[in-house]
Amino acid sequence: MSFKAMLVEKSDDGFSRKITTRETDELPPGDVLIQVAYSSLNYKDALSATGNPGVTRNYPHTPGIDAAGTVISSSDNTFGAGDEVIVIGFDLGMNTSGGFGQQIRVPADWVVALPQGLDLQQSMVLGTAGFTAALCVHKLEAAGMTPDSGPVLVTGATGGVGSVAVMLLAKLGYEVTAVTGKAEQHDFLRQLGASTIIGRDEARAGADRPMLKETWGGAVDTVGGEILFNAVKGLKYGCSLAACGLVDSPAIPASVLPFILRNVNLLGVDSVQLPLAQKQRIWQKLATEWQLPELDALKRTLTLDSLSDAIDEILQGRMVGRGLLVHD
Ligand code: NDP
Repeated sequence: MSFKAMLVEKSDDGFSRKITTRETDELPPGDVLIQVAYSSLNYKDALSATGNPGVTRNYPHTPGIDAAGTVISSSDNTFGAGDEVIVIGFDLGMNTSGGFGQQIRVPADWVVALPQGLDLQQSMVLGTAGFTAALCVHKLEAAGMTPDSGPVLVTGATGGVGSVAVMLLAKLGYEVTAVTGKAEQHDFLRQLGASTIIGRDEARAGADRPMLKETWGGAVDTVGGEILFNAVKGLKYGCSLAACGLVDSPAIPASVLPFILRNVNLLGVDSVQLPLAQKQRIWQKLATEWQLPELDALKRTLTLDSLSDAIDEILQGRMVGRGLLVHD
């Protein structure tokens, strides 16, 4: 069978991307062959599409760490033809041909049955970014965060993880402070539920001070660097920050002071290798008590033809909300 896909190729001049026709036989071996209806654009996809060796080592390659669609065939009894499924993380789109193609073939233990309460499109408006936002909130609540803890800081707030985190926290009754570098997107963030919005400069202020005023009942950080550790220094006693991203920097200018003086926690968040059973539980929550009916406010529809420009935008930090890739 033939299908359409983005293909990233490596040559002496660097990396280039094109939309092309591929064959099912070119896909890696695996238990479940899936007709992909939707994927989504994540920061990591942009890294894969531009040759970042930390994400993808072997080219030519079809990126796309997210995919939702219908099973064509399965050698594993858990799934049968026609089942609606979601695949995010593990090796999909990294060194395994990903959701920027209309077909994928993957091991059965990467595949989650679409939970009742979500449709395929909604699952990909969320995608890895939305799932990770939910995982951050889940870990913060497991560490004791409640709406009474105080305002929750969300950094990189107009991005994929950030925008879903703002929306979910607001829905759960938290007071949300959003950090953004996009002055023109304040209305968008208010619409998602942020009650206070601050600029990146304000979030970086005081980076040279050992501690900051106790302000935050929790924090979701997608950017790393000074902004992350300033947020840790501003946590209230016993509160936690969930760290999932590094768009500003993977380095943290840290000291032990907030940990030993304020009893705060720095929580690591990884959605990629999270065991399938835990992935299923988070998807189940997103389909039920954490369902976000206003997801359309985040959605920007992309096709294979418009994907390349959106990849450039996300690399430049200009993306707002979630890019949904619709396959025809
Ligand atoms: P996006 O590009 O959609 O969002 C990132 C946002 O960060 C931007 O929109 C921008 O928001 C802000 N930003 C960009 N550059 C800078 C900068 N230099 N300093 C401060 N803020 C900046 O990316 P995603 O939301 O998809 O991903 C965010 C991060 O989370 C990435 O590092 C990604 O790799 C990581 N991630 C990790 C996962 C995990 O499992 N741990 C899973 C998914 C993502 P604004 O203009 O509003 O400030």
